[in-house]
Amino acid sequence: MTLAQTFNAALAGIASTPRQLLIDGRWSDAADGGTMVTINPATGLPLAELACGRAADIDLAVTAARRAFEGPWSATTPYDRQRMLLRLADLIEANYDTIALLDSLDMGAPITRTQAGRHTAPQLVRYYAGLVPTLRGETITPSVPGAPFVATLREPVGVVGAITPWNAPFRMCVWKAAPALAAGCTIILKPAEQSPLSALLFGQLCLEAGVPPGVVNVVPGMAEAGQRLAEHPDVDKITFTGSTRTGQHIIRASAGNLKRLSLELGGKSAHIILDDADLDLAAPAAAHAVFQNSGQICSAGTRLFVEDGIHDEFVERVLAETATLRMGDPLDPETQIGPLVDQTQKTTVQQYISTGLAEGASLLAGGTDVEAEALAAGSFVSPTVFTGVRDDMTIAREEIFGPVLSILRFSDRDEVIRRANASEYGLGAGLWTQDVSAAHALGRRLRAGTVWVNCYQLMDPAVPFGGYKLSGYGRESGYDHVHEFLETKALWIR
Ligand code: NAP
Ligand code: MG
Repeated sequence: MTLAQTFNAALAGIASTPRQLLIDGRWSDAADGGTMVTINPATGLPLAELACGRAADIDLAVTAARRAFEGPWSATTPYDRQRMLLRLADLIEANYDTIALLDSLDMGAPITRTQAGRHTAPQLVRYYAGLVPTLRGETITPSVPGAPFVATLREPVGVVGAITPWNAPFRMCVWKAAPALAAGCTIILKPAEQSPLSALLFGQLCLEAGVPPGVVNVVPGMAEAGQRLAEHPDVDKITFTGSTRTGQHIIRASAGNLKRLSLELGGKSAHIILDDADLDLAAPAAAHAVFQNSGQICSAGTRLFVEDGIHDEFVERVLAETATLRMGDPLDPETQIGPLVDQTQKTTVQQYISTGLAEGASLLAGGTDVEAEALAAGSFVSPTVFTGVRDDMTIAREEIFGPVLSILRFSDRDEVIRRANASEYGLGAGLWTQDVSAAHALGRRLRAGTVWVNCYQLMDPAVPFGGYKLSGYGRESGYDHVHEFLETKALWIR
């Protein structure tokens, strides 16, 4: 099959997935009839037209979610919710080819990357399904006279707005919805405007799994829809993943009714290579830590600190690995680097590359030109490597969210921890050393929600993930995540 044939077959494969809003268990057009068009970033061509939700649609979805929360959903037993989630996991698995295609076409991630979710997405749902019957409060013996009975009840927080970014569209739906449903909440999902299609399929699979109407609502739209969710007086919590700027906006917009918030925000993660590291493993890992998903990963290891003694050799090895990366059509199984999500993001990344040059960093790979004519219509940026980067340069401070690696040199280990921590972000950090004492001593001193030693970017449903500082608050995955959707009530009975 030629790539054009693959592409046409792919389009046919997604033609029947939903394009309307899911509100109260029914598919409907937007109240004002408005639509939006999502683009395939590999070609720059329109991919699908779908309903575009606005404030009025969010209001309808919130009403439905409130009704469901106070109605049938609150009457479900833990076992009911567990069974629904397990059915949902099976349906996700059964439909995974379509899900992977939707995300690859809609946001440009290579098909091998989106296909990998075949295992991780159902695993995440099953993890939360497993937790449902374990949720419990405690009994307490108070010292007040009269020996009353005191128990804590763990209650669902209520109606949740879930606002997600474009870099891992389907995973974000699962990551937010599964723990919310496990806790007994109802939700309104507002996916990113660039990649909304798989969220609609997620909604359809929830219905097929037997999730009652109004419990999961999906309202694609622009920032207006997210803004309305954030300020809506009848939404109890927002779970948000996206940029720090939008996160700060949501904090302000949500103040009216003191919404509970969890915010997974940006990053500028430090990746530190000590001179005793296993270079055969560390060098390819350092390249993949920033180039996978074309750098559109919040915890990408974009600040690569390399110790003096191995600096030049390590740079050579990273460049050699970078040269092997195949950029191309996301549907080609050989492709490792797809396009950025859209032309706007491509322009942003190119501006950062120009700024890096203007501020005096040395460009050793990539840059602003993509030569291959076949890719010119898409929003491709080649994997780009800068050396001689100083801490005060823009490319060392700001999140680029593109395939741009900044290599910095260090000679002292206390100094590198100080420099690594001198970022306003604190999402991930990496450290490579064969010295177990250094791993313990330095790993603990890094101010980040996740520190990976002799590995990078590993994730597991059981392991909490989230940020320090401007990278946000709250944790996703792990036991703590479901508690982000619960309130504690103390019940005194005499
Ligand atoms: P974004 O611009 O902040 O958008 C994220 C979501 O917020 C989208 O659904 C967006 O809608 C919506 N939104 C925009 N303005 C809003 C407003 N005023 N009120 C409420 N919602 C609003 O982020 P992005 O560019 O899509 O994603 C990239 C960012 O996400 C990066 O900073 C990255 O680091 C971060 N990220 C973090 C993690 C993590 O786990 N920490 C994971 C992935 C990504 P529209 O699409 O319509 O604009
Ligand atoms: Mg798109």
